[in-house]
Amino acid sequence: MKIDNYNTQEIEELSLAARDYATAHGLLFVDGAQEKGDTNQATQVPLTLFPSSIPREAFIQVVSVQKAYNKLYAKIANDLEFLKTHLEPITKYDKFMEKLWDLHTKHSDFNEKIKPELRQRLALGIFRSDYLVNKDDQEVTSKQVEFNTISVSFGGLSKMMANLHFYCSSSGLYKKPMELDYLTVNTSITGICSGISSAYNAYCEQAKGIPSKNLHAAEGSEPIVLFVVKDSERNICDQRLLEYELVGRFRIKSRRVAIRQLNQLVRDNESNKLYYNHPNGTFEVAIVYYRSGYALDDYPSNNEWDIRLEIENSLAIKCPTIATHLAGSKKIQQVLAESNALERFVQGEEQKAIELTFADMYPLNDTARGQEGIKLALENSEDFVMKPQREGGGNNTYGKDIPDLLNSLPKEEWDSYILMRYIKSLPSQNYILKGRVAEKYDVVDEIGILGTIVWNTETAEELNNGNAGYICRTKPVSSHEGGVATGYASLSSIDLI
Ligand code: ADP
Ligand code: MG
Ligand code: MG
Repeated sequence: MKIDNYNTQEIEELSLAARDYATAHGLLFVDGAQEKGDTNQATQVPLTLFPSSIPREAFIQVVSVQKAYNKLYAKIANDLEFLKTHLEPITKYDKFMEKLWDLHTKHSDFNEKIKPELRQRLALGIFRSDYLVNKDDQEVTSKQVEFNTISVSFGGLSKMMANLHFYCSSSGLYKKPMELDYLTVNTSITGICSGISSAYNAYCEQAKGIPSKNLHAAEGSEPIVLFVVKDSERNICDQRLLEYELVGRFRIKSRRVAIRQLNQLVRDNESNKLYYNHPNGTFEVAIVYYRSGYALDDYPSNNEWDIRLEIENSLAIKCPTIATHLAGSKKIQQVLAESNALERFVQGEEQKAIELTFADMYPLNDTARGQEGIKLALENSEDFVMKPQREGGGNNTYGKDIPDLLNSLPKEEWDSYILMRYIKSLPSQNYILKGRVAEKYDVVDEIGILGTIVWNTETAEELNNGNAGYICRTKPVSSHEGGVATGYASLSSIDLI
Protein backbone atom coordinates (compact mmCIF):
# COMPACT_ATOMS: atom_id res chain seq x y z
CA MET A 1 0.00 0.00 0.00
CA LYS A 2 1.27 3.46 -0.89
CA ILE A 3 2.06 5.33 2.30
CA ASP A 4 4.11 8.34 1.25
CA ASN A 5 1.32 10.91 0.97
CA TYR A 6 0.05 11.06 4.54
CA ASN A 7 0.61 14.14 6.66
CA THR A 8 1.33 14.15 10.40
CA GLN A 9 -2.29 14.72 11.37
CA GLU A 10 -3.49 11.84 9.22
CA ILE A 11 -0.90 9.51 10.76
CA GLU A 12 -1.95 10.62 14.23
CA GLU A 13 -5.60 9.93 13.49
CA LEU A 14 -4.69 6.51 12.10
CA SER A 15 -2.51 5.75 15.14
CA LEU A 16 -5.30 6.58 17.55
CA ALA A 17 -7.77 4.44 15.59
CA ALA A 18 -5.28 1.56 15.53
CA ARG A 19 -4.47 1.84 19.24
CA ASP A 20 -8.09 1.77 20.28
CA TYR A 21 -8.88 -1.08 17.93
CA ALA A 22 -5.89 -3.01 19.27
CA THR A 23 -6.97 -2.51 22.87
CA ALA A 24 -10.59 -3.41 22.14
CA HIS A 25 -9.62 -6.62 20.32
CA GLY A 26 -6.80 -8.02 22.42
CA LEU A 27 -3.81 -7.04 20.28
CA LEU A 28 -1.93 -6.89 23.56
CA PHE A 29 0.89 -8.41 25.52
CA VAL A 30 -0.09 -8.93 29.13
CA ASP A 31 2.71 -8.22 31.57
CA GLY A 32 2.77 -9.13 35.23
CA ALA A 33 2.80 -12.90 35.29
CA GLN A 34 -0.91 -13.49 35.01
CA GLU A 35 -0.46 -17.20 35.60
CA LYS A 36 0.80 -16.30 39.05
CA GLY A 37 -2.29 -14.23 39.79
CA ASP A 38 -0.76 -10.75 39.45
CA THR A 39 -2.75 -7.77 38.21
CA ASN A 40 -3.03 -7.45 34.43
CA GLN A 41 -0.83 -4.83 32.85
CA ALA A 42 -1.27 -4.74 29.12
CA THR A 43 1.04 -3.36 26.45
CA GLN A 44 -0.13 -3.00 22.88
CA VAL A 45 1.57 -5.38 20.44
CA PRO A 46 3.87 -3.45 18.06
CA LEU A 47 1.93 -3.18 14.81
CA THR A 48 1.99 -1.58 11.39
CA LEU A 49 -0.43 1.18 10.45
CA PHE A 50 -0.75 -0.17 6.91
CA PRO A 51 -1.01 -3.68 5.52
CA SER A 52 2.13 -5.08 3.86
CA SER A 53 2.16 -5.23 0.08
CA ILE A 54 3.04 -8.77 -0.98
CA PRO A 55 3.31 -9.89 -4.63
CA ARG A 56 0.30 -12.04 -5.42
CA GLU A 57 2.34 -14.83 -7.06
CA ALA A 58 4.66 -15.08 -4.05
CA PHE A 59 1.70 -15.45 -1.69
CA ILE A 60 -0.11 -17.97 -3.88
CA GLN A 61 3.13 -19.96 -4.06
CA VAL A 62 3.37 -20.42 -0.30
CA VAL A 63 -0.32 -20.90 0.38
CA SER A 64 -0.39 -23.63 -2.28
CA VAL A 65 2.61 -25.52 -0.92
CA GLN A 66 1.49 -25.66 2.73
CA LYS A 67 -0.36 -28.96 2.60
CA ALA A 68 2.64 -30.61 0.97
CA TYR A 69 4.80 -29.18 3.76
CA ASN A 70 2.40 -30.50 6.42
CA LYS A 71 2.64 -33.94 4.88
CA LEU A 72 6.42 -33.72 4.56
CA TYR A 73 6.94 -32.94 8.24
CA ALA A 74 4.45 -35.60 9.34
CA LYS A 75 6.45 -38.12 7.30
CA ILE A 76 9.78 -36.94 8.72
CA ALA A 77 8.43 -37.28 12.26
CA ASN A 78 7.42 -40.86 11.42
CA ASP A 79 10.88 -41.70 10.08
CA LEU A 80 12.90 -42.49 13.17
CA GLU A 81 15.87 -43.75 11.20
CA PHE A 82 16.15 -40.45 9.34
CA LEU A 83 15.91 -38.45 12.56
CA LYS A 84 18.53 -40.63 14.19
CA THR A 85 20.98 -40.33 11.31
CA HIS A 86 20.87 -36.56 11.26
CA LEU A 87 20.15 -35.54 14.82
CA GLU A 88 21.89 -38.03 17.06
CA PRO A 89 25.40 -36.86 16.08
CA ILE A 90 24.68 -33.29 17.16
CA THR A 91 23.17 -34.20 20.51
CA LYS A 92 26.71 -34.38 21.89
CA TYR A 93 27.17 -30.64 21.55
CA ASP A 94 23.69 -29.39 22.15
CA LYS A 95 22.15 -29.92 25.56
CA PHE A 96 18.58 -29.26 24.47
CA MET A 97 18.78 -31.66 21.53
CA GLU A 98 20.40 -34.22 23.81
CA LYS A 99 17.49 -34.04 26.25
CA LEU A 100 14.88 -34.24 23.53
CA TRP A 101 16.65 -37.18 21.93
CA ASP A 102 16.89 -38.97 25.26
CA LEU A 103 13.15 -38.54 25.86
CA HIS A 104 12.38 -39.67 22.37
CA THR A 105 14.38 -42.89 22.90
CA LYS A 106 12.72 -43.54 26.25
CA HIS A 107 9.32 -43.00 24.70
CA SER A 108 10.07 -45.48 21.90
CA ASP A 109 11.03 -48.08 24.54
CA PHE A 110 7.83 -47.42 26.44
CA ASN A 111 5.73 -47.83 23.30
CA GLU A 112 7.30 -51.23 22.63
CA LYS A 113 6.12 -52.50 25.99
CA ILE A 114 2.65 -51.06 26.29
CA LYS A 115 -0.50 -52.88 25.07
CA PRO A 116 -1.01 -51.81 21.45
CA GLU A 117 -4.55 -50.51 22.07
CA LEU A 118 -3.24 -48.07 24.69
CA ARG A 119 -0.68 -46.50 22.36
CA GLN A 120 -1.52 -43.14 20.89
CA ARG A 121 -0.79 -43.41 17.19
CA LEU A 122 -2.28 -40.08 16.21
CA ALA A 123 -0.39 -36.82 16.28
CA LEU A 124 -1.53 -33.24 15.79
CA GLY A 125 0.66 -30.75 13.98
CA ILE A 126 0.06 -27.01 14.08
CA PHE A 127 2.80 -25.80 11.79
CA ARG A 128 4.02 -22.50 10.44
CA SER A 129 6.32 -22.11 7.49
CA ASP A 130 8.02 -18.69 7.40
CA TYR A 131 9.19 -16.93 4.24
CA LEU A 132 10.81 -13.82 2.90
CA VAL A 133 9.98 -12.71 -0.62
CA ASN A 134 13.09 -12.77 -2.76
CA LYS A 135 13.50 -11.01 -6.08
CA ASP A 136 16.26 -11.87 -8.51
CA ASP A 137 16.54 -11.79 -12.29
CA GLN A 138 13.01 -10.46 -12.50
CA GLU A 139 11.63 -13.52 -10.76
CA VAL A 140 9.71 -13.19 -7.54
CA THR A 141 9.80 -16.22 -5.25
CA SER A 142 9.16 -16.84 -1.59
CA LYS A 143 12.14 -18.40 0.17
CA GLN A 144 11.67 -20.30 3.39
CA VAL A 145 13.30 -18.87 6.52
CA GLU A 146 12.34 -21.81 8.72
CA PHE A 147 9.64 -24.37 9.43
CA ASN A 148 8.17 -24.36 12.95
CA THR A 149 6.60 -27.43 14.49
CA ILE A 150 6.21 -26.37 18.13
CA SER A 151 4.35 -23.54 19.83
CA VAL A 152 3.78 -21.49 16.70
CA SER A 153 2.41 -18.15 17.73
CA PHE A 154 0.39 -15.23 16.37
CA GLY A 155 -2.32 -17.32 14.73
CA GLY A 156 -4.76 -15.66 17.13
CA LEU A 157 -3.54 -12.08 16.92
CA SER A 158 -2.97 -12.13 13.16
CA LYS A 159 -6.65 -12.54 12.50
CA MET A 160 -7.27 -9.44 14.65
CA MET A 161 -4.47 -7.64 12.85
CA ALA A 162 -6.10 -8.27 9.47
CA ASN A 163 -9.38 -7.01 10.94
CA LEU A 164 -7.63 -3.89 12.27
CA HIS A 165 -6.30 -2.92 8.85
CA PHE A 166 -9.62 -3.66 7.25
CA TYR A 167 -11.34 -1.49 9.84
CA CYS A 168 -8.96 1.41 9.12
CA SER A 169 -9.69 0.98 5.45
CA SER A 170 -13.48 0.80 5.78
CA SER A 171 -13.47 3.81 8.11
CA GLY A 172 -11.96 5.88 5.31
CA LEU A 173 -8.58 6.35 7.03
CA TYR A 174 -6.62 5.07 4.03
CA LYS A 175 -6.43 7.25 0.92
CA LYS A 176 -7.08 4.22 -1.25
CA PRO A 177 -9.27 1.60 0.39
CA MET A 178 -8.20 -2.05 0.51
CA GLU A 179 -10.08 -4.42 -1.72
CA LEU A 180 -11.54 -7.46 -0.04
CA ASP A 181 -9.53 -10.34 -1.44
CA TYR A 182 -10.64 -13.92 -0.95
CA LEU A 183 -7.01 -15.07 -0.72
CA THR A 184 -6.09 -12.87 2.22
CA VAL A 185 -9.19 -13.40 4.35
CA ASN A 186 -7.29 -14.72 7.35
CA THR A 187 -8.70 -18.03 8.56
CA SER A 188 -5.99 -18.47 11.21
CA ILE A 189 -8.16 -18.78 14.33
CA THR A 190 -10.83 -21.05 12.86
CA GLY A 191 -8.23 -22.97 10.87
CA ILE A 192 -6.07 -23.82 13.89
CA CYS A 193 -9.10 -24.72 16.02
CA SER A 194 -10.55 -26.85 13.28
CA GLY A 195 -7.31 -28.89 13.28
CA ILE A 196 -7.48 -29.23 17.07
CA SER A 197 -11.13 -30.25 16.82
CA SER A 198 -10.36 -32.98 14.32
CA ALA A 199 -7.74 -34.47 16.66
CA TYR A 200 -10.08 -34.03 19.63
CA ASN A 201 -12.88 -36.00 17.98
CA ALA A 202 -10.48 -38.79 17.07
CA TYR A 203 -9.26 -38.96 20.66
CA CYS A 204 -12.79 -39.14 22.09
CA GLU A 205 -13.70 -41.93 19.68
CA GLN A 206 -10.65 -43.96 20.73
CA ALA A 207 -10.83 -43.21 24.47
CA LYS A 208 -14.46 -44.09 25.00
CA GLY A 209 -13.60 -47.77 24.50
CA ILE A 210 -10.89 -47.65 27.19
CA PRO A 211 -12.19 -47.71 30.76
CA SER A 212 -10.21 -46.10 33.54
CA LYS A 213 -10.33 -47.92 36.84
CA ASN A 214 -7.95 -46.05 39.09
CA LEU A 215 -8.49 -42.47 38.08
CA HIS A 216 -11.65 -40.74 37.00
CA ALA A 217 -12.56 -37.38 35.61
CA ALA A 218 -15.23 -35.37 37.44
CA GLU A 219 -18.74 -36.70 36.86
CA GLY A 220 -20.14 -35.54 33.50
CA SER A 221 -16.96 -33.72 32.47
CA GLU A 222 -15.70 -34.07 28.92
CA PRO A 223 -12.06 -34.44 27.93
CA ILE A 224 -10.24 -31.13 27.61
CA VAL A 225 -7.50 -29.53 25.53
CA LEU A 226 -4.60 -28.59 27.79
CA PHE A 227 -2.55 -25.54 26.83
CA VAL A 228 0.93 -25.89 28.38
CA VAL A 229 2.16 -22.33 28.78
CA LYS A 230 5.17 -20.47 30.14
CA ASP A 231 5.16 -19.43 33.79
CA SER A 232 5.24 -15.75 32.87
CA GLU A 233 3.57 -15.67 29.50
CA ARG A 234 3.07 -12.27 27.88
CA ASN A 235 1.41 -13.48 24.70
CA ILE A 236 -1.77 -14.57 26.47
CA CYS A 237 -4.27 -12.91 24.14
CA ASP A 238 -2.93 -14.83 21.16
CA GLN A 239 -3.57 -18.08 23.03
CA ARG A 240 -6.87 -17.03 24.59
CA LEU A 241 -8.35 -16.19 21.20
CA LEU A 242 -7.87 -19.85 20.26
CA GLU A 243 -9.42 -21.00 23.53
CA TYR A 244 -12.47 -18.77 22.95
CA GLU A 245 -12.91 -20.13 19.44
CA LEU A 246 -12.51 -23.72 20.66
CA VAL A 247 -15.29 -23.42 23.18
CA GLY A 248 -17.43 -20.93 21.24
CA ARG A 249 -17.48 -22.59 17.84
CA PHE A 250 -16.39 -26.15 18.52
CA ARG A 251 -17.76 -26.63 22.06
CA ILE A 252 -14.37 -27.91 23.23
CA LYS A 253 -13.23 -26.89 26.70
CA SER A 254 -9.65 -26.08 27.48
CA ARG A 255 -7.50 -25.36 30.50
CA ARG A 256 -4.15 -23.68 30.84
CA VAL A 257 -1.34 -25.12 32.87
CA ALA A 258 1.93 -23.36 33.49
CA ILE A 259 5.10 -25.42 33.31
CA ARG A 260 5.69 -25.12 37.03
CA GLN A 261 2.24 -26.67 37.64
CA LEU A 262 2.85 -29.68 35.45
CA ASN A 263 2.97 -32.00 38.45
CA GLN A 264 -0.81 -31.66 38.47
CA LEU A 265 -0.78 -34.09 35.55
CA VAL A 266 -1.05 -37.81 36.21
CA ARG A 267 -0.91 -40.68 33.75
CA ASP A 268 -3.10 -43.59 34.75
CA ASN A 269 -1.05 -46.78 34.42
CA GLU A 270 -4.03 -48.92 33.63
CA SER A 271 -5.78 -46.96 30.88
CA ASN A 272 -2.76 -44.83 29.93
CA LYS A 273 -5.08 -41.81 29.96
CA LEU A 274 -3.75 -38.46 31.11
CA TYR A 275 -5.56 -36.59 33.87
CA TYR A 276 -5.26 -33.03 35.02
CA ASN A 277 -5.88 -32.56 38.73
CA HIS A 278 -7.21 -29.06 39.04
CA PRO A 279 -8.29 -27.87 42.50
CA ASN A 280 -11.82 -27.61 41.07
CA GLY A 281 -11.93 -31.11 39.65
CA THR A 282 -10.11 -33.75 37.67
CA PHE A 283 -10.17 -33.62 33.86
CA GLU A 284 -9.26 -36.19 31.27
CA VAL A 285 -6.84 -34.64 28.79
CA ALA A 286 -7.54 -35.29 25.10
CA ILE A 287 -4.87 -33.03 23.67
CA VAL A 288 -1.71 -31.51 25.08
CA TYR A 289 -0.99 -28.37 23.11
CA TYR A 290 2.47 -26.94 23.88
CA ARG A 291 2.72 -23.18 23.82
CA SER A 292 6.05 -23.47 25.62
CA GLY A 293 8.65 -26.19 26.01
CA TYR A 294 10.78 -25.15 23.01
CA ALA A 295 13.64 -23.70 25.04
CA LEU A 296 15.96 -25.05 27.71
CA ASP A 297 14.70 -22.42 30.18
CA ASP A 298 11.26 -24.00 29.99
CA TYR A 299 12.66 -26.99 31.87
CA PRO A 300 14.16 -25.62 35.08
CA SER A 301 14.76 -29.10 36.51
CA ASN A 302 14.62 -32.76 35.56
CA ASN A 303 11.11 -32.83 36.92
CA GLU A 304 9.77 -30.94 33.88
CA TRP A 305 11.55 -33.33 31.52
CA ASP A 306 10.11 -36.31 33.42
CA ILE A 307 6.63 -34.91 33.07
CA ARG A 308 7.10 -34.26 29.38
CA LEU A 309 7.96 -37.95 29.04
CA GLU A 310 4.87 -38.96 31.01
CA ILE A 311 2.75 -36.83 28.71
CA GLU A 312 4.45 -38.29 25.64
CA ASN A 313 3.78 -41.82 26.84
CA SER A 314 0.13 -41.15 27.61
CA LEU A 315 -2.93 -41.67 25.44
CA ALA A 316 -3.43 -37.90 25.04
CA ILE A 317 -2.71 -36.59 21.54
CA LYS A 318 0.37 -34.39 21.58
CA CYS A 319 0.84 -31.18 19.62
CA PRO A 320 3.64 -31.73 18.87
CA THR A 321 5.04 -35.16 19.66
CA ILE A 322 8.73 -35.18 20.56
CA ALA A 323 9.50 -36.66 17.13
CA THR A 324 7.64 -33.79 15.47
CA HIS A 325 9.43 -31.29 17.68
CA LEU A 326 12.75 -32.82 16.59
CA ALA A 327 11.69 -32.84 12.93
CA GLY A 328 11.31 -29.06 13.14
CA SER A 329 14.96 -28.50 13.96
CA LYS A 330 17.05 -26.36 11.68
CA LYS A 331 19.41 -29.25 11.04
CA ILE A 332 16.58 -31.18 9.36
CA GLN A 333 15.67 -28.14 7.28
CA GLN A 334 19.26 -27.99 6.08
CA VAL A 335 19.43 -31.72 5.31
CA LEU A 336 16.23 -31.50 3.26
CA ALA A 337 17.80 -28.83 1.07
CA GLU A 338 20.64 -31.16 0.03
CA SER A 339 20.12 -32.61 -3.41
CA ASN A 340 17.80 -35.65 -3.56
CA ALA A 341 17.06 -35.61 0.19
CA LEU A 342 13.45 -34.67 -0.33
CA GLU A 343 12.68 -37.65 -2.57
CA ARG A 344 12.58 -39.92 0.45
CA PHE A 345 9.36 -38.19 1.52
CA VAL A 346 7.69 -36.40 -1.37
CA GLN A 347 7.95 -36.68 -5.14
CA GLY A 348 6.74 -35.08 -8.35
CA GLU A 349 4.99 -31.72 -8.31
CA GLU A 350 4.98 -31.51 -4.52
CA GLN A 351 8.72 -32.08 -4.38
CA LYS A 352 9.32 -29.37 -7.01
CA ALA A 353 7.07 -26.87 -5.23
CA ILE A 354 8.83 -27.45 -1.91
CA GLU A 355 12.31 -27.26 -3.50
CA LEU A 356 11.47 -23.91 -5.04
CA THR A 357 11.09 -22.45 -1.53
CA PHE A 358 14.57 -23.52 -0.36
CA ALA A 359 17.38 -21.03 0.13
CA ASP A 360 20.96 -22.40 -0.01
CA MET A 361 21.90 -24.17 3.20
CA TYR A 362 25.09 -25.90 4.32
CA PRO A 363 26.21 -28.10 7.18
CA LEU A 364 29.49 -27.13 8.86
CA ASN A 365 31.21 -30.53 9.02
CA ASP A 366 33.72 -32.73 7.12
CA THR A 367 31.42 -33.79 4.30
CA ALA A 368 32.13 -32.22 0.90
CA ARG A 369 29.11 -29.96 1.30
CA GLY A 370 30.20 -29.14 4.86
CA GLN A 371 33.66 -28.10 3.64
CA GLU A 372 32.02 -25.82 1.11
CA GLY A 373 29.91 -24.39 3.94
CA ILE A 374 32.91 -23.74 6.18
CA LYS A 375 34.76 -21.97 3.37
CA LEU A 376 31.75 -19.76 2.64
CA ALA A 377 31.23 -19.03 6.33
CA LEU A 378 34.82 -17.88 6.70
CA GLU A 379 35.34 -16.13 3.36
CA ASN A 380 31.92 -14.89 2.24
CA SER A 381 30.24 -14.43 5.57
CA GLU A 382 28.34 -11.24 4.54
CA ASP A 383 25.98 -13.36 2.46
CA PHE A 384 25.09 -15.77 5.26
CA VAL A 385 23.40 -16.35 8.58
CA MET A 386 24.52 -19.03 11.01
CA LYS A 387 21.91 -20.72 13.20
CA PRO A 388 22.03 -23.03 16.21
CA GLN A 389 19.26 -25.56 16.95
CA ARG A 390 17.15 -23.05 18.84
CA GLU A 391 13.74 -21.41 18.63
CA GLY A 392 12.21 -18.19 19.77
CA GLY A 393 14.38 -15.53 18.12
CA GLY A 394 17.65 -13.83 18.98
CA ASN A 395 19.88 -16.89 18.54
CA ASN A 396 21.37 -16.31 15.09
CA THR A 397 24.70 -14.86 14.00
CA TYR A 398 24.88 -12.69 10.91
CA GLY A 399 27.44 -11.75 8.28
CA LYS A 400 30.78 -10.52 9.56
CA ASP A 401 30.17 -11.94 13.06
CA ILE A 402 30.16 -15.50 11.72
CA PRO A 403 33.95 -16.06 11.45
CA ASP A 404 34.43 -14.79 15.02
CA LEU A 405 31.81 -17.18 16.33
CA LEU A 406 33.32 -20.10 14.42
CA ASN A 407 36.78 -19.31 15.71
CA SER A 408 35.50 -19.15 19.27
CA LEU A 409 33.96 -22.63 19.08
CA PRO A 410 35.74 -26.00 19.16
CA LYS A 411 35.62 -27.43 15.62
CA GLU A 412 33.57 -30.45 16.60
CA GLU A 413 30.75 -28.16 17.71
CA TRP A 414 30.41 -26.47 14.33
CA ASP A 415 28.13 -29.20 13.07
CA SER A 416 25.47 -28.32 15.62
CA TYR A 417 24.94 -25.10 13.63
CA ILE A 418 23.76 -24.61 10.07
CA LEU A 419 24.77 -22.00 7.53
CA MET A 420 22.08 -20.37 5.44
CA ARG A 421 22.23 -17.83 2.65
CA TYR A 422 20.86 -14.47 3.75
CA ILE A 423 17.60 -13.96 1.86
CA LYS A 424 17.51 -10.50 0.33
CA SER A 425 13.92 -9.48 0.38
CA LEU A 426 12.14 -6.58 -1.23
CA PRO A 427 12.15 -3.58 1.12
CA SER A 428 9.10 -1.35 1.33
CA GLN A 429 7.93 1.33 3.73
CA ASN A 430 5.51 1.24 6.60
CA TYR A 431 4.73 2.98 9.86
CA ILE A 432 5.41 0.90 12.96
CA LEU A 433 3.31 1.83 15.97
CA LYS A 434 4.90 1.12 19.34
CA GLY A 435 2.89 2.48 22.24
CA ARG A 436 1.71 5.93 21.15
CA VAL A 437 4.41 6.62 18.62
CA ALA A 438 4.22 5.69 14.95
CA GLU A 439 7.49 5.89 13.04
CA LYS A 440 8.15 5.46 9.36
CA TYR A 441 10.73 2.83 8.43
CA ASP A 442 12.17 1.01 5.46
CA VAL A 443 10.90 -2.46 6.26
CA VAL A 444 10.86 -6.10 5.18
CA ASP A 445 7.93 -8.43 5.66
CA GLU A 446 8.16 -12.05 6.80
CA ILE A 447 5.12 -14.14 5.89
CA GLY A 448 4.18 -17.21 7.94
CA ILE A 449 1.76 -19.73 6.48
CA LEU A 450 -0.13 -21.79 9.02
CA GLY A 451 -1.30 -25.34 8.52
CA THR A 452 -2.67 -28.19 10.59
CA ILE A 453 -2.45 -31.93 10.14
CA VAL A 454 -3.67 -34.95 12.07
CA TRP A 455 -1.93 -38.15 11.07
CA ASN A 456 -1.21 -41.70 12.08
CA THR A 457 2.40 -42.00 13.20
CA GLU A 458 2.61 -45.66 12.15
CA THR A 459 0.73 -45.79 8.84
CA ALA A 460 1.18 -42.12 7.83
CA GLU A 461 -2.53 -41.98 6.99
CA GLU A 462 -3.84 -38.41 7.18
CA LEU A 463 -7.13 -37.73 8.97
CA ASN A 464 -6.99 -34.07 8.17
CA ASN A 465 -4.57 -31.77 6.38
CA GLY A 466 -5.31 -28.13 5.72
CA ASN A 467 -4.25 -24.52 5.50
CA ALA A 468 -4.93 -22.34 8.51
CA GLY A 469 -4.39 -18.74 7.43
CA TYR A 470 -1.27 -16.67 7.77
CA ILE A 471 0.73 -14.22 9.83
CA CYS A 472 2.82 -11.31 8.65
CA ARG A 473 5.64 -9.71 10.65
CA THR A 474 7.28 -6.50 9.58
CA LYS A 475 10.67 -5.30 10.77
CA PRO A 476 12.92 -2.37 10.00
CA VAL A 477 15.56 -3.34 7.42
CA SER A 478 18.20 -2.35 9.94
CA SER A 479 17.24 -5.28 12.18
CA HIS A 480 18.29 -8.80 11.24
CA GLU A 481 15.85 -10.62 13.48
CA GLY A 482 12.10 -10.83 13.04
CA GLY A 483 10.45 -11.74 16.37
CA VAL A 484 7.48 -9.71 17.57
CA ALA A 485 7.47 -11.01 21.14
CA THR A 486 11.20 -10.35 21.37
CA GLY A 487 10.61 -6.75 20.25
CA TYR A 488 12.40 -6.90 16.89
CA ALA A 489 9.34 -6.78 14.69
CA SER A 490 5.72 -5.75 14.50
CA LEU A 491 2.57 -7.55 13.40
CA SER A 492 1.06 -6.70 10.04
CA SER A 493 -1.42 -8.12 7.56
CA ILE A 494 -1.26 -8.75 3.84
CA ASP A 495 -2.50 -6.73 0.90
CA LEU A 496 -1.70 -8.42 -2.41
CA ILE A 497 -0.16 -6.44 -5.26
P1 ADP B 1 13.78 -18.64 15.22
O1 ADP B 1 13.41 -20.08 15.28
O2 ADP B 1 14.59 -18.20 16.39
O3 ADP B 1 12.60 -17.76 14.92
P2 ADP B 1 14.65 -18.01 12.49
O4 ADP B 1 15.32 -18.98 11.60
O5 ADP B 1 13.24 -17.70 12.15
O6 ADP B 1 14.81 -18.53 13.99
O7 ADP B 1 15.48 -16.67 12.51
C1 ADP B 1 15.06 -15.51 13.22
C2 ADP B 1 14.92 -14.33 12.28
O8 ADP B 1 16.15 -14.11 11.60
C3 ADP B 1 13.89 -14.49 11.17
O9 ADP B 1 12.60 -14.12 11.61
C4 ADP B 1 14.43 -13.57 10.08
O10 ADP B 1 14.03 -12.23 10.31
C5 ADP B 1 15.93 -13.67 10.28
N1 ADP B 1 16.49 -14.67 9.35
C6 ADP B 1 16.64 -15.99 9.60
N2 ADP B 1 17.16 -16.63 8.52
C7 ADP B 1 17.31 -15.70 7.56
C8 ADP B 1 17.80 -15.72 6.21
N3 ADP B 1 18.24 -16.84 5.65
N4 ADP B 1 17.80 -14.56 5.53
C9 ADP B 1 17.37 -13.40 6.09
N5 ADP B 1 16.92 -13.31 7.36
C10 ADP B 1 16.88 -14.44 8.09
MG1 MG C 1 11.46 -20.95 14.88
MG1 MG D 1 11.48 -17.73 13.20
